[in-house]
Parts: sequence; C-alpha cells; structure tokens
Amino acid sequence: MYYMILVTMYKKEYVHTNQREIILSYLKNNQGHFTASDVYAEVNKILPRISMATVYNVLRLLVKKGEIFSFHINDVELFEGGFYGVNGPHDHFVCSVCNTIDDVFVPDVRDYYIKKTSMAYPDKEMDKLSIVITGICKSCQKRGYENGKIR
Ligand SMILES: [Zn+2]
Ligand SMILES: [Zn+2]
Repeated sequence: MYYMILVTMYKKEYVHTNQREIILSYLKNNQGHFTASDVYAEVNKILPRISMATVYNVLRLLVKKGEIFSFHINDVELFEGGFYGVNGPHDHFVCSVCNTIDDVFVPDVRDYYIKKTSMAYPDKEMDKLSIVITGICKSCQKRGYENGKIR
C-alpha cells in the first residue's frame, strides 16, 4: 500500500518536472514573445496529453521563480524566456499598426527609472520593471509613406 502511494507520487512529480523542463527549454531556446496558447501548441507536440491549464500553471510558476518573464500588451499576457539572457532585461516597442513587438535595450534608462521610482515610493519594494512603448514600426512607416497616407 505504502509502496503504491510512493510510486504514484514519484510519477506525478516526475511528469511535472518533465513538463516544466520542456516548457522552460522551449521558451529559452526560442526568441520571441509567446501567449500561453502559443506555448501550449508547441509543447503539445512533445507532450500530447498536457492540458492548457497545466501549461498555464507551469508558466505562472516559472514567472514566479524568475526563470521567465511575462508582460501584457492589449490585455494579452506574453511570455518570454530570453529576458534575462545574453542581452539582459529589456523593454518592448509595439507597433500600433501591425502589432509587431520588438525588444528595445536602454539599460541605463531602466536603472534610472527604477531607482528614482523606488526613491519616490520608499514604502514599496520594487524588483521588476516593464515598459511598453507604442508607435509605428519602420515597415509600417514605409508602407504609409508609399501609400501616400498621412500618419
Ligand atoms: Zn508595424
Ligand atoms: Zn522581449
């Protein structure tokens, strides 16, 4: 009896760890910004029995542990594995015409902003910063120009 319970627990934990590793490695090995359903669609190819709810729970856990980063654009939560990677923490530029998301790196601005804000609100402990800048990307600017549209 005891033995069976232990085996079941071990299996559960094993599967869970495996799911977590697969989801984490997908996000670490693929540059970009993914919704939970994007991640589900990819991970489902490797783990056909995984549910959307599990994928979401694992994503939340990874964000909480600081292994991945998430931010919202137009109320959609996006997950990213490379946030603390080679290029370090960054912010996002979103084209308001085509919704393309680009990473923008201005590290000294981030440091300055969080330092100043922490000083202004000393009662709050701040650890993460997420800036989303909207505008018009280069190719939309070009298209607008070619079509003779006034932006
Ligand atoms: Zn655009
Ligand atoms: Zn990014």
